[in-house]
Amino acid sequence: MLKVKNIKKTYGNLVAVDQLSFEVKDGEIFGLLGENGAGKTTTFRMIMGLLEADSGEILLNHKKIDYSITDQIGFVTEERSLLTKMTVKEQILYYGALKGMTDAKILKELKYWLKKFEIEEYENKKIKELSKGNQQKIQFISAVINHPKLLILDEPFTGLDPINVRLLKDAVYELKREGCSIIFSSHQMEHIEEFCEKLIILVKGKVILEGYLKDIKKSYGIKKVIIKGKNIDITKLKKIEGVESIKEKNEEIIIEISNEKLVEQIFNSIKKYEILKFEALEPSLNEIFIEKVGNSHE
Ligand code: ATP
Repeated sequence: MLKVKNIKKTYGNLVAVDQLSFEVKDGEIFGLLGENGAGKTTTFRMIMGLLEADSGEILLNHKKIDYSITDQIGFVTEERSLLTKMTVKEQILYYGALKGMTDAKILKELKYWLKKFEIEEYENKKIKELSKGNQQKIQFISAVINHPKLLILDEPFTGLDPINVRLLKDAVYELKREGCSIIFSSHQMEHIEEFCEKLIILVKGKVILEGYLKDIKKSYGIKKVIIKGKNIDITKLKKIEGVESIKEKNEEIIIEISNEKLVEQIFNSIKKYEILKFEALEPSLNEIFIEKVGNSHE
């Protein structure tokens, strides 16, 4: 379990991370969100022991993070930190040895992951000969070769096609099942939405929203109704008090509402038509992010 308690980091006069606290339990996937410059990388660097916090405490399984336990943290970032002249096997043997593993154990793990990622034929190829997506898989393998207790994923899916995104996501779920604590950061909200149970949104180093995703969404309530049907007359819908907007797109009617009690009223007013779809939706994480972060600039 990772425990971050009241950490603060300043660069000169700039407060990059301000009294940040959160917890990631074993087997939990945690989302750290924020605009560019919000303080995510600074936070990751402090967790990995690469940067010292001005104040506060970071504990991994109740121990202060120092060089004796940084081996237990795996890191995957968008910038590839691979030694491109090495072959895949040499690279992984090198990283595994740094983490104190025997060659036999490293090679066993490597074989398992290459098979899982469907790239067994690249074992003896130089990293620079691999495509961007396959390099990303090798970076992932080097981060998880020793089954870390904490895995930090910073925009890990950038540049990957949907099939490879799926392969990597499945691998992350496998580590989750093993009890690994996972921190995930991305500007692609659909990944966060699919992946993270709990999250924090940072603005200028400060937390502006935190909690379990399902609770956050529930607290917003139903904000949108989508209807598909035959010859629905929307003039009546427009007159309902609390209907904020009505748009028609791809044969669907999208209604924004101020209050979830209106869902029943909307349904009653269209039920005489032939209805093919009726969906009442909480806001998406993207909408919540834009509202929260947008408001914080006003
Ligand atoms: P992005 O999504 O763009 O990667 P981020 O959330 O990771 O952004 P950080 O890189 O942690 O943000 O930066 C937080 C703030 O600290 C920014 O205002 C940045 O300009 C500043 N900053 C980061 N590193 C340094 C440094 N070494 N010296 C001075 N200021 C820095």
